[in-house]
Amino acid sequence: MTLLPPRAKPGDRKLGLVIDLDTCVGCHACAVNCKEWNTGGHSAPLPDHDPYGTDPNGVWFNRVHTFEAGKGTDSRTVHFPRSCLHCEDAACVSVCPTGASYKRDEDGIVLVNEDACIGCKLCSWACPYGAREYDSDSGVMKKCTLCIDRIYNENLEEEDRVPACVSTCPASARHFGDLNDPESDVSQLVKERGGQELMPELGYKPVNRYLPPRARKREQSPSGVGAKLEPLVDLAPNRDNKFLRWVDRVLSR
Ligand code: SF4
Ligand code: SF4
Ligand code: SF4
Repeated sequence: MTLLPPRAKPGDRKLGLVIDLDTCVGCHACAVNCKEWNTGGHSAPLPDHDPYGTDPNGVWFNRVHTFEAGKGTDSRTVHFPRSCLHCEDAACVSVCPTGASYKRDEDGIVLVNEDACIGCKLCSWACPYGAREYDSDSGVMKKCTLCIDRIYNENLEEEDRVPACVSTCPASARHFGDLNDPESDVSQLVKERGGQELMPELGYKPVNRYLPPRARKREQSPSGVGAKLEPLVDLAPNRDNKFLRWVDRVLSR
């Protein structure tokens, strides 16, 4: 396996995911293919204990949460895939006492150097998005790598050099690209659909963006022309908007 050399100056690229909450059907294919690829890849192996028992636990870089949003006839089920957001000012990097957690200059990907990790778990406490996954078998922290061993892998066909989760999504709800390039497909998608970052008030500047789910019912204009789709869920941060909180936190309130 060959990783391409860095092709950009520091800060030139911000690689990340754009996830469409309007079209995600919660099938978990992204989570399963992530597990499948990464258990043999950069951070391998990813343990799984008691997978079909009463107390399953293991390392999953991508998890999908499902909940209800909206009220009455406007309510719907929303599926929320969750993985590392590759923050620009990543809390996990600043708290790491050994430098094991780091952010790559050339493409902005946040990684863990397992040789330097002492398993103290400070990064998992610091990450507000719950993106860190502790591997109790090897005693080190692991996380989404943005599939660096796919996206730069010259042994793969060019169209396959995308994260495993993106390649497998049957609803095309996951998109990968450079969010620092205003002309990239992902940047255009964010612009057109009002893509948003999660919990921007925390200041960690996550790179990934989420496209908000839209209402299914069209607002009817008197002529029936010019009907538009309004967002079902307001993703704007405010004290009462719990949508942007991870489901675990929502349920605990
Ligand atoms: S594979 Fe796509 S549709 Fe399925 S849960 Fe993941 S993001 Fe949603
Ligand atoms: S668990 Fe590892 S990566 Fe996380 S803060 Fe501790 S040493 Fe750093
Ligand atoms: S980018 Fe790769 S490691 Fe990250 S969630 Fe997707 S498949 Fe998993």
